[in-house]
Amino acid sequence: MMRYSYDWLIVGAGFTGAIIAERLASVYNQKIWVIDRRNHIAGNAYDSINEHNILYHVYGPHIFHTNSDRVIQYLSHFTDWKNYEHRVVGLVKGRFIPIPFNLTSIEILFSQKEAEDLKNLLLHTYGINIKVPILEMMKNSDEKIRFLADFIYQNVFIGYTTKQWGLKPEELSPSVTERVPVHISYDDRYFQDKFQKMPKDGYTKLIERILNHPNITLSLNTEYNDVRNCNSFEKTIFTGSIDEYFDYKLGELPYRSLHFDVQSYQQRIHQPVAQVNYPNDHQYTRITEMIHFNKVYRNKMTTVEIEYPQPYIIGKNIPYYPISQENNERLYQQYLCLIRQSSKKVFFAGRLGTYRYLNMDQAVDQALTLVEKIH
Ligand SMILES: Cc1cc2nc3c(=O)[nH]c(=O)nc-3n(C[C@H](O)[C@H](O)[C@H](O)COP(=O)(O)OP(=O)(O)OC[C@H]3O[C@@H](n4cnc5c(N)ncnc54)[C@H](O)[C@@H]3O)c2cc1C
Repeated sequence: MMRYSYDWLIVGAGFTGAIIAERLASVYNQKIWVIDRRNHIAGNAYDSINEHNILYHVYGPHIFHTNSDRVIQYLSHFTDWKNYEHRVVGLVKGRFIPIPFNLTSIEILFSQKEAEDLKNLLLHTYGINIKVPILEMMKNSDEKIRFLADFIYQNVFIGYTTKQWGLKPEELSPSVTERVPVHISYDDRYFQDKFQKMPKDGYTKLIERILNHPNITLSLNTEYNDVRNCNSFEKTIFTGSIDEYFDYKLGELPYRSLHFDVQSYQQRIHQPVAQVNYPNDHQYTRITEMIHFNKVYRNKMTTVEIEYPQPYIIGKNIPYYPISQENNERLYQQYLCLIRQSSKKVFFAGRLGTYRYLNMDQAVDQALTLVEKIH
């Protein structure tokens, strides 16, 4: 019988790959080889201290939030937490309003009388602390609610969504548009999850501790294609793009990419909250100021990331977001059929492997569930 050096090859050292590796190594005493094509661990959650001593998120702002007890319990073995609740404002008609659009946003943008009428109508129709998808609100039978919904759609929603995805909201699956609802509330936090904290020493340190196990060997700067035919592992977990794994033989799955323009300014604080959205102005969608995540405002310099969505081009930039549309889902399912037909022991996981927008907590949860099935 063939003896392998490793039970598993795990492609990708992001949240998904790292957690699957740790569980298989520590609970089931399996030998694991983790590879990543990048020169660092933590995937898109990678953060690093810059020359101004500011911890910044290299691939875009990552805010941790969850309602899952098992995710909190698992991650808390590897990190302490620091309090952080995310708040976002958007520039609309020259004013900064809370995003998601809420009752305070109405007060800022309308006259006192109009605002009172609209708020009462929303509270009467939907109740307090309710999130309503904008496309649903636009179908309401009340003319005034439709007027407000159309105002929000035109001034807050369509510009941002079109820049972000390069598509109109109607062209996207409702799961995308539901992510930015109208919030009938005065709660101006971006998320309402019960647990909203950031890992105390950052995401990279967290993943470093997860991967720190004698059964785990890590190789960075390593492409899957360069090791796929070697005989040192028995089974594979692939957290990269499923279409790439199959050499795009059924066609390319579309992704949205991003460009980050990182700027540092000689200022203590550049903007009032961590994230300012620009739905109608500029080519970029948002500016994120990292210092707010740490809440340490002693620095003389501050660093911001200006985010420009871009089409994804294979080999040129990074596939950040799977694009949620029916055709793409169909193509993904066809790729899954190829796996079932193949004799190889390979499992696909994570944001790219399952072609799903997964928040970090969902990636953790999916990884924990997968290990229970495959160990
Ligand atoms: C801009 C942006 C902002 C986000 N903000 C948030 C947020 O605020 N809150 C939140 O909860 N989530 C956020 N997310 C989602 C979060 O990044 C994901 O949940 C998380 O990264 C999923 O981890 P993963 O391991 O599945 O994938 P990834 O982090 O993408 O890791 C996959 C790894 O596999 C490697 N890889 C791929 N193919 C190969 C190959 N062929 N050979 C070798 N290595 C390969 C890649 O280099 C990568 O390091 C955000 C995502 C993006 C893009």
